[in-house]
Amino acid sequence: MSKLIKSIRGMHDVLPDDSHRWQAFEAVIRQLMTSYGYKEIRMPLVESTDLFCRSIGEVTDIVEKEMYTFEDRNGDKLSLRPEGTASCVRAGIQHGLLYNQIQRLWYNGPMFRHERPQKGRYRQFHQFGVEAFGIATADIDAELILICARLWKQLGLKGVRLELNTLGSSQTRSEYKQILVEYLNLHLELLDEDSLRRLQTNPLRVLDSKNPAMRQMLDNAPALIDHLDDESCQQFDKLKASLDAAGVEYSINPRLVRGLDYYCKTVFEWITDELGAQGTICAGGRYDGLVEQLGGKSTPAAGFALGVERILSLLEVQQEQQAQSIDIYLLLLGDACEIKGLQLAEQIRDLHPELKMITHCGGGSIKSQLKKADKSGAKIALILAEDELKNEQLTVKYLREKKHQITISFDGLNEFIKNMRALHNR
Ligand code: ATP
Ligand code: MG
Repeated sequence: MSKLIKSIRGMHDVLPDDSHRWQAFEAVIRQLMTSYGYKEIRMPLVESTDLFCRSIGEVTDIVEKEMYTFEDRNGDKLSLRPEGTASCVRAGIQHGLLYNQIQRLWYNGPMFRHERPQKGRYRQFHQFGVEAFGIATADIDAELILICARLWKQLGLKGVRLELNTLGSSQTRSEYKQILVEYLNLHLELLDEDSLRRLQTNPLRVLDSKNPAMRQMLDNAPALIDHLDDESCQQFDKLKASLDAAGVEYSINPRLVRGLDYYCKTVFEWITDELGAQGTICAGGRYDGLVEQLGGKSTPAAGFALGVERILSLLEVQQEQQAQSIDIYLLLLGDACEIKGLQLAEQIRDLHPELKMITHCGGGSIKSQLKKADKSGAKIALILAEDELKNEQLTVKYLREKKHQITISFDGLNEFIKNMRALHNR
């Protein structure tokens, strides 16, 4: 029998039972982009290798180790695209879409990087990318971030946090580079092999290192954010003010430099703690120099790309948790409380059909009932015992949070559950 041919390591089929999840995601995003006035662009999967070397940078992980590069039959050096921004800029210049114009664009499709395959890291993966050309001000940076925030909301994703940094102008960056190199030279004995090499070729990337042994030394390194030029500073302040006004939370991470050379000023990442090491689900920033670097007229630009596989797997994890989670376990102690408790529970179910509440049945001590409450995974135990019944109250015990127990009146129960659910659905 002939040997079975299998798919390439790190490159996956989307099977029929799974494709609906991709389609649902794509439908949400398509609608969202249209609502913000962005138009789709579709680029080829294969480009000249040169394009990526000149944009992403010769001394980056992608170009050094990850690209699928081959010779065409006529001898041209070609690469499967490892990301979309370079192709998008190439297309924009080639078709005269950029000079003196504003373009709001998006694309969606497979990217290729020869990385070590693991959960959340594949050799063919999918990015959804957004690029805005022709706007130099922080308002567009804010818009891009707000699009992401709205997308998480529409998808129902929770607990994704935003990290921000600014890399300053190319002038500030090169001044800072010298300061950083001086500092790193004082700690050569702590640098690993990769970092020693980067110190020579691309010192900013040393900050990007994930090596825990270098963590403390890098935390103490002079931060770029303390050496900013006035213009970058003002832009960054305006971006932060816009995000504050829109109620989008963020933290500043001075070590966020991004793995590609073309970024300047604003950079950002959206990160989750629920996917292990592959926690960055979306990343982007400003790249004002790239259009000119690739032969076009100088055009400001900013964008982001998100990893579709990581988003879908986070959604799956959270939906699974959601499906299993119980909001309330109602403890009832004694006959009178059992009768009153069932009645209260029915009233609450009328008002909150989506509430997941288990009413304890079958009696037993408070200890044994609490044990069942804990096992159910409920966030809150509501207790109705003789004392509570006398005072027309319930005791609230928080099972997963370090919060003191409180009492609420029967009349206040509806309001309490409303607030609890609002908090939970944030
Ligand atoms: P990482 O630090 O995880 O390697 P990156 O900085 O190389 O990410 P970007 O080039 O910024 O990633 O790509 C944008 C997004 O694409 C990432 O945030 C991630 O969600 C996704 N992504 C990148 N590489 C892969 C991969 N090999 N497999 C799956 N998703 C990926
Ligand atoms: Mg990478």
